[in-house]
Amino acid sequence: MASKKYVNPFQDVHEKAQAAIDHARRVREEEAERRKKNAEEEAARENVVPRRKLRIVRRDFPPLGICEWCNAQFKSTLQQLDKAEFEIRTLFDAHQCKREDAS
Ligand SMILES: [Zn+2]
Repeated sequence: MASKKYVNPFQDVHEKAQAAIDHARRVREEEAERRKKNAEEEAARENVVPRRKLRIVRRDFPPLGICEWCNAQFKSTLQQLDKAEFEIRTLFDAHQCKREDAS
């Protein structure tokens, strides 16, 4: 006598659907975890190297550059503009940003 285990077809469908839902949730959780990790790493990088930008506000003598992040000013006494800009950029690269609104 062949006995066949009775499987409720609806039960079977339900289990497969549940497995798919579980899988989708795991994928979503892994994705969320990955995004969170990336955001934290990005924030850590920005703490080490703040996003700052030098703006040359005056190109005739005496040239003047400012940091768009902290408004620090950089002046050069060099007459040659290309050298003056290089000096300003060097000063900019060396300076420590101090945001007035920083806590
Ligand atoms: Zn600065």
